[in-house]
Amino acid sequence: MIIAIDGPAGSGKSTIAKMLAKELKFTYIDTGAMYRAVALKVKLSGVSPQDEEAVLNLMEKTEIKLLPAEWGVKVLLDGKDVSQLIRTEEIGKIASLIARLPQVRKKLVKLQRELGTASKNAVIEGRDTGTVIFPDADLKIFMTASPEKRAQRRYRELSEKGFTVDYESILKEIRERDRLDETRKDSPLKPAPDSIVIDTTDKNLQDVFLSVLKLVRERL
Ligand code: C5P
Repeated sequence: MIIAIDGPAGSGKSTIAKMLAKELKFTYIDTGAMYRAVALKVKLSGVSPQDEEAVLNLMEKTEIKLLPAEWGVKVLLDGKDVSQLIRTEEIGKIASLIARLPQVRKKLVKLQRELGTASKNAVIEGRDTGTVIFPDADLKIFMTASPEKRAQRRYRELSEKGFTVDYESILKEIRERDRLDETRKDSPLKPAPDSIVIDTTDKNLQDVFLSVLKLVRERL
């Protein structure tokens, strides 16, 4: 069974995807982590995130691995654990820039499809998991929330991790990332026509989890 969960940053999709994978003992595939790992490599190498050829060349020499971890995934970039390093807003922004490059998407989508197909059951989350990676997924969820609510969540999450953050700049970053993700020509962020859209602005994530779990159980 493939469960595809898409939505913008801070919609709650990662939290719900991880909770579902844990509860159902499904493989958890965080597609955003792959874009973020490439983004980190781009930053470290000084390559422009808009130079498709340079980014592709860099990817040829890059190894990205997602390993199951107790809570989420462990991300290895060329053998080094970058799970925490890739979670900054700066890397998120670079990830959104490289995610506009069609050939980069093509390579990552291939990898993501292989990962999903290799697991018997998977929860896959990102921006195009129900539209492009697995258009035949058994269940497609599109989670969304107001930009202000998403910024509040991100602010709390990053503060709790010990990062020094500013609410207004997070809100600005979120709006900018939405713009980049929604306006790209290749696989723009949008709900698949057969997805179930959940607006989590005024919802408690535990309640959202229970309603999604119910949808999964109806399909098992
Ligand atoms: O989900 P996360 O915030 O980690 O994703 C980082 C960026 O990677 C997104 O803003 C988006 O531009 C890109 N992405 C994508 N397609 C996916 C997952 C992530 O374009 N399936």
